[in-house]
Amino acid sequence: MEERKCLRCGAALQRVAQDTIQMGKTSWIFGDLPNLLSGGLDVVIMACPECGELSFFVPTEQEKEEQALGALVKTCPSCGKKHHMADRRCPHCGHTY
Ligand SMILES: [Zn+2]
Ligand SMILES: [Zn+2]
Repeated sequence: MEERKCLRCGAALQRVAQDTIQMGKTSWIFGDLPNLLSGGLDVVIMACPECGELSFFVPTEQEKEEQALGALVKTCPSCGKKHHMADRRCPHCGHTY
């Protein structure tokens, strides 16, 4: 995963939470940001361990996948990509267990 850096001091940010913000009402985070989406907006909340700066990001496809799968992921020994525990076969490279 690509490392996200603090805009203020350059330290590596740490992921605090991943959440879905309901659009269509005033949000404590985004204030009056235009409601581009109806429904929810997925965000990753990152914090800087050095200066305490909080930053918000839209999750990458990989992060969305990880969130959806939760703890039910394993890493393929062949291609190194993550997939569901229940898979008998890696969906990325076809490796069979
Ligand atoms: Zn910082
Ligand atoms: Zn694989």
